[in-house]
Amino acid sequence: MCFITIIYKFLLVLIFVVDTWPVFQSPMKVTSYFPFSYQWPVVMGQHVVIMTIVCTYQLVPCTKGCSEEIRRGSLERHLTETCPKRIVNCEYCKRKGAHKLIRSKNHLDECPDLPITCGECNQAMPRHLHNETCPKAMISCVGCNIVLKREDLEKHNEESMKEHLDIAMKKIDALQHSHKVFMLPDYTKKKEEGEDWCSPHFYTSPGGYKMLLRVRPNGDGSCKGTHVSCFIYLKAGVYDDRLEWPFQGEVTIELLNQLEDKNHWEDTLLFDESTDVDCKQRDSTDGWGKPNFISLSALEYDATKNFQYLKDDSLYFRVNVKATSIRQSQFKPWLVTSVDI
Ligand SMILES: [Zn+2]
Ligand SMILES: [Zn+2]
Ligand SMILES: [Zn+2]
Ligand SMILES: [Zn+2]
Repeated sequence: MCFITIIYKFLLVLIFVVDTWPVFQSPMKVTSYFPFSYQWPVVMGQHVVIMTIVCTYQLVPCTKGCSEEIRRGSLERHLTETCPKRIVNCEYCKRKGAHKLIRSKNHLDECPDLPITCGECNQAMPRHLHNETCPKAMISCVGCNIVLKREDLEKHNEESMKEHLDIAMKKIDALQHSHKVFMLPDYTKKKEEGEDWCSPHFYTSPGGYKMLLRVRPNGDGSCKGTHVSCFIYLKAGVYDDRLEWPFQGEVTIELLNQLEDKNHWEDTLLFDESTDVDCKQRDSTDGWGKPNFISLSALEYDATKNFQYLKDDSLYFRVNVKATSIRQSQFKPWLVTSVDI
């Protein structure tokens, strides 16, 4: 009988004893037979020592949860060498992640440091460097958004200088004069109950003045019952400290034709020397506006000019602000944060 066989037989006898001897039945009942693992208590003086035999051939679930079952003796190797859930670094970009993800096609398709050879320019280099330099890559011109090859950009810039300048001017213009559209709902109820309506607060431009539009559907003061009245209020805004006060400029209020994009009703409020100074200050309690903005009878459908301002019991207002008091030298558009603009 070879040595291993003797050991094996000895273990079987031992297990039999452990498993059947009432002293060991509870709470350390042996639950399985060789070749699994066993635990049993051994009384040594006043102490009870738990003895354990662990079988390295027992199949156990992967401790990283990859759903594989591995022989206990190979678990260590599985976790470091083959488990799809083991953490590895991408050999190119050094990003850390589960092997399954890092070595996947998805990651390789976007790994910025993967060396590639461009079929267009024949250069071999990491992807991100190539993306930034390939003369054959299609890029869009920041001046006019046209898509062209990188190598053609210089020529395009020379030829389109005037066009680029015009577009830049328009963008600056749009930054300084923003317009907002607001819907006033339930017009009839508001009119009958003499209720006011206020638009949400808005900024005149990124980094500009904060305002709101207040509408009285049944008219204000002497215009009560005959007109819709509109007022602009300056509210406390986050940029107030770096703006010029009192506010100066033009605010155009339009009541939109809901049938087509023409024949909108409009009126312009001037905030200038003639304007009551209280209406031009920050967080003013006084509004500046037109009590006789539009007569109630003009709201209804007009067949000859095809306009209708009151439709589905709603009015649409568009407010355009041209601030002339912003100190241009102090205006820093790149510092404007994403506060409601
Ligand atoms: Zn695994
Ligand atoms: Zn990578
Ligand atoms: Zn290339
Ligand atoms: Zn361009």
